[in-house]
Amino acid sequence: VRRSVRVAIVGGGPAGLAAAEELGRRGVDGVVVLERELEAGGVPRHAVHQGFGLRDLHRSLSGPRYAERRRGLAEGANARIECGTAVTGWSADGALELTSPSGREALEAGAVLLATGCRERPRAARLIAGARPAGVMTTGTLQQLVYLHGGRPGRRAVIVGAEHVSFSALATLAHGGAEAVAMLTELPRHQSFAAFRIGAALRYRVPLLTSTTVVAIEGRERVEAVRVRDLDGGGERLLPCDLVVLTANWVPEAELARTGGTEIDAGTQGPAVDASLRTSREGVFAAGNLTGAAETADLAALSGRHAAAAIAAYLQRRSWPAARVPIEYQAPVLWAVPNRVATDAGQPLHRRISMRGGEFQRLRRARVEQGGVTLWSGVLPRIVPGRPARIRAGWLPGVELEQGPLRVGLD
Ligand SMILES: Cc1cc2nc3c(=O)[nH]c(=O)nc-3n(C[C@H](O)[C@H](O)[C@H](O)COP(=O)(O)OP(=O)(O)OC[C@H]3O[C@@H](n4cnc5c(N)ncnc54)[C@H](O)[C@@H]3O)c2cc1C
Repeated sequence: VRRSVRVAIVGGGPAGLAAAEELGRRGVDGVVVLERELEAGGVPRHAVHQGFGLRDLHRSLSGPRYAERRRGLAEGANARIECGTAVTGWSADGALELTSPSGREALEAGAVLLATGCRERPRAARLIAGARPAGVMTTGTLQQLVYLHGGRPGRRAVIVGAEHVSFSALATLAHGGAEAVAMLTELPRHQSFAAFRIGAALRYRVPLLTSTTVVAIEGRERVEAVRVRDLDGGGERLLPCDLVVLTANWVPEAELARTGGTEIDAGTQGPAVDASLRTSREGVFAAGNLTGAAETADLAALSGRHAAAAIAAYLQRRSWPAARVPIEYQAPVLWAVPNRVATDAGQPLHRRISMRGGEFQRLRRARVEQGGVTLWSGVLPRIVPGRPARIRAGWLPGVELEQGPLRVGLD
């Protein structure tokens, strides 16, 4: 079976749904959102806490309410949401290959938006030693188990990681009848807001072990303990528990981008995008956490909206940049989005480049250079690993591509 649409959006999370809404608002019809789950909405569907929608919908909603609202807005803008439909690859002539309960089909589209999100690295990708007992999961899996299926994950949990999402795992554990016995991070400090840490200490009385790494997971059928090492003193100890929650440590869900031949950025490990969220493949755009993992849901939605504006322009003019140069990074900068500069640059979302650093830093001067010439420099108040630091991008339209790659670093 083969059909064609004007725009195919892969992934019905905040980014994909917001893009669908914006395309409708701009008068683009024939928009289809392909979502492999049985319900669209993405991660917020199973994140029951409040705080979703602040910057895109200007209100604070729970995750499920936010997902519902985003679905309604996309449908209200005449987008067709096809759930239970996984995009599994690309055919030789560039169509998307879909698999759904009604079978397999090929979908041709005038433009494709990849909005497949990101996930937390599972245990295998973190190379944690020890046996392979049950009871090791990511926060995403924990949320689905507790909130979507009403399951009981375990009784005593060790949380690996100390980012925003790690603190949200505490509430999920409590909801599922489990207690957190420790939260640990290899870094010298947690990476979330002070209020979250204080709240967690008061409400859940969970100790935070900093500069601590997991050496091994112990247990035969079920987790029995986690062996940890103090990175400062070198001592090891056992933390008895029956559940290990691996939090953060995100990786973009970039399989489709990769098999579609779009260039992958070495820093983000998602498709390399310019300010208009165009990939290296004509007609293929990318938005949300696929392009840089992870931002909050409202920013993912705004990124989807930003891509929609570029898609609408592309459908009208059918022009694609002839050339682009990379934005490269120097440690401790790990990655930046956008990470390519194209001939007709345009401006990124909020006229800012979002970057991530790998170390805690305060009052450091960031510098963007091309061929030894400084294009921009400015002081960043602070850099926290895993949290965005944004640099102004007003200089972008003035970049001359012949001068070669750009470099972002800290003085
Ligand atoms: C545990 C957890 C807690 C969080 N808490 C908060 C919070 O409190 N506040 C906040 O603002 N943000 C929070 N976030 C972040 C927020 O959920 C994300 O920023 C947001 O969901 C990203 O949107 P997205 O559309 O890029 O990706 P996603 O929400 O991940 O959506 C991607 C969608 O694509 C679908 N998909 C992927 N591949 C395919 C394919 N091949 N075919 C078809 N469909 C596909 C997936 O099923 C999914 O529905 C949290 C994230 C996690 C994991």
